[in-house]
Amino acid sequence: MINLVLFGPPGAGKGTQSEKLIQKYGFVHISTGDLFRWHTKNDTDLGKRVKEIMNSGALVPDEITIAMLKEELDKNPNAKGFLFDGFPRTVGQAEALDKFMKDNNTAIHHVIALDVTEEEVRTRIAKRRNVEHRVDDEEEKLNKRITEYFTKTIHVLPFYDKQGRLKTVQGIGAIESIFKSITAIIDQK
Ligand code: AMP
Repeated sequence: MINLVLFGPPGAGKGTQSEKLIQKYGFVHISTGDLFRWHTKNDTDLGKRVKEIMNSGALVPDEITIAMLKEELDKNPNAKGFLFDGFPRTVGQAEALDKFMKDNNTAIHHVIALDVTEEEVRTRIAKRRNVEHRVDDEEEKLNKRITEYFTKTIHVLPFYDKQGRLKTVQGIGAIESIFKSITAIIDQK
């Protein structure tokens, strides 16, 4: 079993790379952003609780996010491996994730950060706006999401780095060459 965390700011290409990785390795994909969007779209109790927070571009509190993640893990007892996309975004979430992995006699084997500049991220999201409307891609909300990343989420990187678990991949370039860099990390013995 191989478990992977894919890390990077909004618009870094996590979604695109995740799709390719799932195809190649058969990971169960856990994207907390997608899960929250599903809940808000279907107007579940959880969706009602997080809708305003998400639409503002802020992070959902750890307590809610971690509980939702745990539920998702429990739904997949026979997974060959998990790919976490958009989680963890705080050190508290990273610690909870380690605990869940340990409880299942496994671990997070790779933490891969897509290195993309703020300028590149803003350009990409501006392009995405022309194709797909996401409330949280609107200018003010996007600013908030990027600020959340560079003030809170970024602190997760030293947490993994100190333990020697962090690998950084250049996130600007052709999709295929970024994918190759990621698979080289996963496949190394
Ligand atoms: P994403 O598509 O991953 O950018 O997530 C969209 C939104 O969902 C974020 O702006 C947050 O409001 C919420 N969200 C997703 N993942 C998390 C997380 N791990 N912790 C807190 N909030 C999250």
